[in-house]
Amino acid sequence: MNEFPQALTLAGTDSGGGAGVMADLKTMQMRHVFATAVVVAVTAQNTRGVQDFMALPPKLIDEQCASLADDLKILACKTGMLADAEHVHCVAENLKRYDFGPLTVDPVMIAKGGAALLADDAITTVRDELVPLATVVTPNLPEAQRLTGLTIIDADGMVRAGQALQALGAQNVIIKGGHGADPQMANDYVRLADGTAFWLAAPRTDTVRTHGTGDTLSACITAELAKGVDVAAAIQTAKAYVTGTIRDTIQVGHGHGPLNHWA
Ligand code: PLP
Repeated sequence: MNEFPQALTLAGTDSGGGAGVMADLKTMQMRHVFATAVVVAVTAQNTRGVQDFMALPPKLIDEQCASLADDLKILACKTGMLADAEHVHCVAENLKRYDFGPLTVDPVMIAKGGAALLADDAITTVRDELVPLATVVTPNLPEAQRLTGLTIIDADGMVRAGQALQALGAQNVIIKGGHGADPQMANDYVRLADGTAFWLAAPRTDTVRTHGTGDTLSACITAELAKGVDVAAAIQTAKAYVTGTIRDTIQVGHGHGPLNHWA
């Protein structure tokens, strides 16, 4: 009998339940994939922001990965918050050591509330060690700028950044346009391994309840890849999933509220 599809997130937790590992597990569950997690960092966090965080000892990350590889059959994985260069390196080494299937790299840098979830000097480590392993990389505009060194001010800039990320070794790229200037639309640029490209457009919803959107998008892509869906379809499904979770809000907390995974 074929094993049930199993997926993995290597990321940071959110005690408030809206982002990070918690968003990943909820998303994978909703997409009917068995969700597993290697916790890289623990945040003290709610919808108002990140109050503190601590990364776990790399040895414990090695042990979590070894434990999964020893028993489960992980068919796709993703990375999220990785804290600093030492932990980016540790995660990249584990991803080279074990076959956890296609990798989606969400190059998490700064939370919406402004907290830095990745040390500045770790951006080059993400670029040099993690991006080359990526089946899909999912930066937002500021992350794409930091990774490529390009200034992105328009659609042409997104196209150039997509090409640059592929030159750095990522097979497929989705650059999220949510931080863009268009008040009506959030346009994402997708560039596939075969050189074809397309835009995903969604109407912008005027809401502060967008905590965890990036995690949810990359977790949904990962879940679809674990089920054997092709990359283009996985990205399209994930965009539709995130758009739905933003549209139908739930009231939790006082700040950047979490998404509605039942939407
Ligand atoms: N906390 C953790 C652990 C995350 O991984 C992320 C995003 O990836 C965030 C917080 C930030 O969430 P947002 O910027 O959507 O509020």
